[in-house]
Amino acid sequence: METGVPICHCGHESKIVTSWTDENPGRRFFGCKNYGRGSHCRFFAWYDAPLTPRARVEVVVAAAVVVAAEVV
Ligand SMILES: [Zn+2]
Repeated sequence: METGVPICHCGHESKIVTSWTDENPGRRFFGCKNYGRGSHCRFFAWYDAPLTPRARVEVVVAAAVVVAAEVV
């Protein structure tokens, strides 16, 4: 079955993970589903297009609004 999901170095379908680094907040990428669970597979491919500086700021602001709403 063709799902369009990249296959990682260990032969599994990769999964979509959301990045929360300062450089790429909220940006999604494909990563090995075994990463962090004993696998040394370092498969990595971006799912979302690169963020512009303007978009990056908006993502951070939106995340802050969500956090504030949950507190209240
Ligand atoms: Zn893998």
